[in-house]
Amino acid sequence: MKKITLIIPCYNEQEALPFFYEEVTKTLSGLSNYSYELLFINDGSDDDTLSVIKSFATKNEAVKYLSFSRNFGKESAMYAGFCHATGDLVAIMDADMQDPPSLLPKMLEILEKEEYDCVATRRFSRKGEPLVRSFFARLFYRLMNKISRTDIQPGARDFRLMKRPMVDAIVSMCEYNRFSKGIFGWIGFRTYWLPYENVERVAGKTKWSFFGLFRYALDGIFNFSQAPLYIASWFGLFMTMLSVVLLLFVIIRKLLFGDPVAGWASQVCIMIFIGGIQLFCMGIMGQYIAKIYLETKHRPPYIIAETNLTETKKATE
Ligand code: UDP
Ligand code: MG
Repeated sequence: MKKITLIIPCYNEQEALPFFYEEVTKTLSGLSNYSYELLFINDGSDDDTLSVIKSFATKNEAVKYLSFSRNFGKESAMYAGFCHATGDLVAIMDADMQDPPSLLPKMLEILEKEEYDCVATRRFSRKGEPLVRSFFARLFYRLMNKISRTDIQPGARDFRLMKRPMVDAIVSMCEYNRFSKGIFGWIGFRTYWLPYENVERVAGKTKWSFFGLFRYALDGIFNFSQAPLYIASWFGLFMTMLSVVLLLFVIIRKLLFGDPVAGWASQVCIMIFIGGIQLFCMGIMGQYIAKIYLETKHRPPYIIAETNLTETKKATE
């Protein structure tokens, strides 16, 4: 009998978890050919998420949990889940029911019947989401696919069901600056995209502010594309060439008409403009250097404070 592991990252999800647990156990116990394991990752919640998870664990031995020493973010939670999942098939699911458990049987069927390593989900609508957020999300996916060779589908969720080889590949990517949507695309494997209508969160609030998402998008770009660096260098080259042309213009004008002092105001503007561009380009380089800095420290992406697993793995093993 094959085993499915569901990884559920949870950060302050005490309201949503009971709904999730009921629905998901109903769906999973309906699958006669599979056993299951629910691996909850408590990502340093401030509310009673951990005690809710523990109450599930006392009544159901398929419930496992890892509890972090503080909030490390969903990326770290997912990675910890992948490192500790024991199933032949592994799925990532949000605790707020935005990743409908009812899709699981269909996903399993696709993996069993067809030659795919992974079934990933994609929202075809963003109903119920603020318009500004949808607009920037669309812009991000369009930009990302232009400047990065990693395939990132618009509207892609982290909700996906994978076979073991793909999970092992994800675990082997032990980078500190994690951007899972990029990692999933980068490692390859045959992926089936299953579209579904957006579902609103069952209870609780989203953990993402607009600026939080904006930073996440920038992280994605810096982690999976060198395009900002190229843009900076090409811009530098363009400015240098332009300055040579302008210099020639100034020299020729001086020789023909004299009066080298006129136009000082425009010169100051140009100096400020170029200074700005230089700082901007240095900032871009700084972003990459900061990533290198964090990467070389080899800090663990998560620290486990408590668990009911008998054995835990260090992130960098
Ligand atoms: N989450 C997490 N750590 C965080 C933020 C979020 O583990 O620092 C979990 C959260 O509990 C949920 C999932 O990641 O299960 C998705 O979060 P959320 O629903 O807030 O994001 P959205 O669906 O609005 O993109
Ligand atoms: Mg959500």
